[in-house]
Amino acid sequence: MHISNYYYTEPLVNASKMLVENSDFDKVFFCNSGAEANEAAIKLAKKYGKLKSEDKIELISMKQSFHGRTCGALTATGQEKYQKNFLPLLPGTKYAVYNDIESLKEIISEKTCGVILEVIQGESGIIPVQVEYLKQVEELCHKYDALLIIDEVQSGMGRTGKLFAYENFGIHPDVVSTAKGLGGGVPVGAMLCKDDVAVFVPGDHASTFGGNPMVTTAATVVMDELVNNGLLAHVQEVGAYLTEKLNVLKDEVDCVTDVRGIGLMQGVEITKTPKDIVSKCMEKGMLIASAGTNVIRFVPPLIVTKEEIDEAVAILKEALV
Ligand SMILES: *Cc1c(COP(=O)(O)O)cnc(C)c1O
Repeated sequence: MHISNYYYTEPLVNASKMLVENSDFDKVFFCNSGAEANEAAIKLAKKYGKLKSEDKIELISMKQSFHGRTCGALTATGQEKYQKNFLPLLPGTKYAVYNDIESLKEIISEKTCGVILEVIQGESGIIPVQVEYLKQVEELCHKYDALLIIDEVQSGMGRTGKLFAYENFGIHPDVVSTAKGLGGGVPVGAMLCKDDVAVFVPGDHASTFGGNPMVTTAATVVMDELVNNGLLAHVQEVGAYLTEKLNVLKDEVDCVTDVRGIGLMQGVEITKTPKDIVSKCMEKGMLIASAGTNVIRFVPPLIVTKEEIDEAVAILKEALV
């Protein structure tokens, strides 16, 4: 499984090549999890800022975001419930209200080195970004020369029918982080960035096991399935089907107040207690999770079939009524 990372290996090169050839990015750093991918992104933004000016070190993230549980990623996670037992966290981090451009304008400045956000907030209840807002975020990042970092740990690797969810919104981030689906179940994360912001030199950042032959082989297989064997197209088809079925459910069941998301990342907002519904679904043979305070989250395997979606929505309906 392991070869000293003094050397490149074929699987590492193949996986990197697949990722850069199918995205906007030029460079890849492999690690072992989503949190680590965000740590790499945060460090990259810090160094990028420092090279411009000694006090260009502020990171902006969003309230209600989720970026992982290591200290840097936890600092970026704008939720008191995750942070409260671990304060103080990294200095120099500010939080803006998601989907509110005035809130970002108030805190972004020449001191900002990076802005990190999810284009669909996952943990906090499947909340998609508004496209006009996101374009303004991108403009502000350009104006202040801050890196635009998109956390694609949950939304990336085909989940929305595009390789990365941000591709649904017509923006061009400098950096993305990815993990979860990247290895199809094997633990691997990655940070991807563009050449003009790739400021790391050897020694700045590294991971002993990151990019090992086993996990990068898995990532190559996943990429091959997505890009060459029709999995992205499949997600587009079944994602549209899931959206349609959940919207029918919304019309039929009173306690469903909203259905939102893209592709195979959908949230069903309900007025009942999600925990009870999750338990009822489990009794009926379906494992599902909640997100935020009042949302049932659908993030099925990308290979899910229409028949399985029918079954899943039927079970949820029984649990809800
Ligand atoms: C799960 C998640 C993470 C953390 O990933 P780990 O592999 O658990 O460290 C980071 N960001 C988002 C958006 C996530 O959903």
